[in-house]
Amino acid sequence: MGLVRLMPAPVITIDGPVGSGKSTVGQLLAERRGYLCVDSGLFYRAAALAAQRAGADPSDAGEVVPAIANLELEFRPETEGAYRTRVLSGGEDVTEGVYSVDVEAIVSDVSRLPEVRAHLLGEQRRVIGQGGVVALGRDIGTVVWPEAELKVYLDAPLETRALRKWQQRRTDGECIAFARVRDLLETRDRIDSTRADAPLAAAVDAVRIDSDDSSPEETVAQIEVLLRDRGLNHGC
Ligand code: C5P
Repeated sequence: MGLVRLMPAPVITIDGPVGSGKSTVGQLLAERRGYLCVDSGLFYRAAALAAQRAGADPSDAGEVVPAIANLELEFRPETEGAYRTRVLSGGEDVTEGVYSVDVEAIVSDVSRLPEVRAHLLGEQRRVIGQGGVVALGRDIGTVVWPEAELKVYLDAPLETRALRKWQQRRTDGECIAFARVRDLLETRDRIDSTRADAPLAAAVDAVRIDSDDSSPEETVAQIEVLLRDRGLNHGC
């Protein structure tokens, strides 16, 4: 009888700009396959929140790094309502803070510091390395996990993405002008895609998907076709 070689479950990466639909699509896909959804944006958001609370200048590594040195993060998928993940930092639920506009206003400055990226990289790789993961971010297919079995680059036009973000905030009961949401989004996109270290970019072997005219379910179905074509059609 031949030896059966147990292959680790695949890693699927979904990179893309703000509001391209990564979180919703990624969590739906992970749920359908029984995988873990790792949203790397939450690491950077939690780092930005810690920097903000410490009163650190978000562009100064000398001030930010000490503020994030002892971050102990835990992520719990939300069981009801929108696809969100609850974030615990040192046991404290900081979900509201990490998704706040104030954190979004500084997160890209914090994220462009190479020292911050280096600090958060090991933990992302440790979790993704278990396999059976849908990993979301800006640089997962290019830097964090280039050996992924399937890489997707998700995109949509600016107005569509801004509208999604604005509607999400309105649903959460926030009163915020559309123009403010769009400005924040454009600023984050610009900083994320022009930074020197691990900028937002599609990996050369990523499959580009435009989510503009598709529901999250339709985008997930498109990704499932890609998985089937590659013989990766089994969950867990
Ligand atoms: O994906 P999300 O909008 O939650 O990401 C928040 C911010 O974290 C991004 O705007 C970006 O500055 C940073 N980020 C990053 N690299 C990743 C994921 C997120 O720099 N892999």
